[in-house]
Amino acid sequence: MERRGFLRMSAAAGLSGAAQVQAGGQTPASPASSQSFIERADPNQPGRGKVFALITPHLDDGPIFAGGTLVKMLNEGYTGYFIRVSNDEKDSYNLTLGETVLANEQDAARFVEVAGLKKRYDLNYRNHALDDVSRMEIRVRLMFLFRLLKVDTVLSYDPWGHYEENPDHYVTAQAVEAACWMSGDHLDFPEQFDAGLNVHAVTQKYYFARGPQQVNRVVDISPLIKRKIACIGSCRTMITNMVRSTNDALTAQGLRLAAFSGDQEAANDAFIQAAFIERDRATGARYGLDYAEEFHYIGPDTSLDGYIRAHAEKI
Ligand SMILES: [Zn+2]
Repeated sequence: MERRGFLRMSAAAGLSGAAQVQAGGQTPASPASSQSFIERADPNQPGRGKVFALITPHLDDGPIFAGGTLVKMLNEGYTGYFIRVSNDEKDSYNLTLGETVLANEQDAARFVEVAGLKKRYDLNYRNHALDDVSRMEIRVRLMFLFRLLKVDTVLSYDPWGHYEENPDHYVTAQAVEAACWMSGDHLDFPEQFDAGLNVHAVTQKYYFARGPQQVNRVVDISPLIKRKIACIGSCRTMITNMVRSTNDALTAQGLRLAAFSGDQEAANDAFIQAAFIERDRATGARYGLDYAEEFHYIGPDTSLDGYIRAHAEKI
């Protein structure tokens, strides 16, 4: 996620900060929310044989914004991978830069295990500096992985999400979006085919955003909320940073939250509940659900299906 934005908001909001936090830093009403398709648990294993990749710059982005959805996909038969684009070197409370890289790497391994993902790939670009990295380079690395892993579906930041202040988020989003269709082109990086790969376009995208976005897909995560909490909790170093930095901001205002004090594990749990799960509850309430996650969903191109059905002949 973007801890700085979260903290700035809660500190600036003073006493009303908790209410802002519960909104998760997002504008509550998204433009197309009334037309959104609600995706519920499907016992028919629609993900069997399919592959998804969660691609985010930071460890906690996926668990916070799509933790329920990715667990739902795994439950429904998908094989899942996590591609972490940055090294998360800036996100700890009182560790050095080097210690922070290691701590978040260990947390990332925990997240993969807790979520039930198959494997993680760390691209290891420097945290907060993705706008100084060649987007083409990131795109080609993603295309290689999409072709290698035969990725059908991605979960990532919305490349058209508004008011995103973190370059790591929008650079990753743009690289993912371009790589999705370009990996299906036979003239893009054809040397990869000599290494045994084939063209393989990504045809389904679940995009989340911290700010306003065009929401057209709502995923009911009510049965999976405990699994989501566990996924967020695995980002121990980052959540601890959020809790302790929030406490510092409160102390500066002469305030204290008992739930965020004392035992760190319990404080982290309380923070996850207040900051993220309450937001999912508020999102769900707008759609008559207990807990939900919102996305801009882009599915396979079906524009020729009618013509093909009408005119195609067997050969
Ligand atoms: Zn982030």
